[in-house]
Amino acid sequence: MPLIVTGSIGIDTIETPFDRREKILGGSCSYFCAAASFFTDVRMVAAVGGDFHEDYRKILKKFPKVDISGLEVREDSKTFSWGGKYFDNWNQRETLFTELGVLEEHPPKSPPAFADSKFVFLANTHPAVQYEMLHSFPERVFSVADSMNLWIDIALDDLKKLMRDIDGLIINDEEAHMLTGIRNVISAGRKIIETMGPMFVVIKKGEHGCVLVHDQGVAMLPAFPVEKVVDPTGAGDSFAGGMMGYLAAAHSKDMNVSIDSIQQALAHGTVIASFAIESFGLDRLAELTKEEVAKRYTDFQEMVKV
Ligand code: AMP
Repeated sequence: MPLIVTGSIGIDTIETPFDRREKILGGSCSYFCAAASFFTDVRMVAAVGGDFHEDYRKILKKFPKVDISGLEVREDSKTFSWGGKYFDNWNQRETLFTELGVLEEHPPKSPPAFADSKFVFLANTHPAVQYEMLHSFPERVFSVADSMNLWIDIALDDLKKLMRDIDGLIINDEEAHMLTGIRNVISAGRKIIETMGPMFVVIKKGEHGCVLVHDQGVAMLPAFPVEKVVDPTGAGDSFAGGMMGYLAAAHSKDMNVSIDSIQQALAHGTVIASFAIESFGLDRLAELTKEEVAKRYTDFQEMVKV
């Protein structure tokens, strides 16, 4: 089932307690596409500036199931760029800088060939752009959006408007608190689905896993215990990519996405995210094999069986 995503392509500078990388390829859309491509074909719609050099494009090309024909280059603009710093506790991250560049401009245009997309993922970017993208796919059957604290701070009305029209929302525990004023993740999730629009919300809790609050029930999953975390950047986007990639593949005929199917999808997202954080940028995902994914999925099933 055609899966389409829009979001940021970022040039990231990352500091961890052990190492540092400057100007590496990141962005919500890049991680999402790489992760989803382990399950299905993915269509990318995003914009970059004239500073997006060939080496970045070569990294995207390492994922042959990602169709980058919707990658728009704006020669006179700047690619979104972001700096993040991690501390001893990997769950804690400080944003060092955010240069919005193309994200402040008009949304990228989706190629006509992508118009029949049924599964739509709105990776982290300005919610007004997400809204416009959502409505450019009239044949959509399942749409999910990701967001973050910056947009809750500066574009809350746009985010609320978007939430009324999507099936699912993915956020982290802090963002759920910001949106609802409620600390308890289940209660916050319930408030979101009861008053803001989506049918379900996935609340991520970093290394403590995630909680699904759905109008049909509640589910939870631990994170896969990674022993050597190198760079947690993109964990959330890879998680979402694995989840949506799995759903799009599993629902090629029956498009009725049940809570059970979302729960299974969360497990696949969890496994892909656990690989993404074993390197800086997309390095680990670029060398990852389907066999490694399947093996870790089996290990994960063994670990969580109750
Ligand atoms: P994650 O670690 O999953 O939250 O995603 C990190 C990625 O999101 C980085 O590669 C950044 O380039 C990108 N990013 C950071 N802030 C934003 C933002 N405000 N809008 C869109 N993408 C962002």
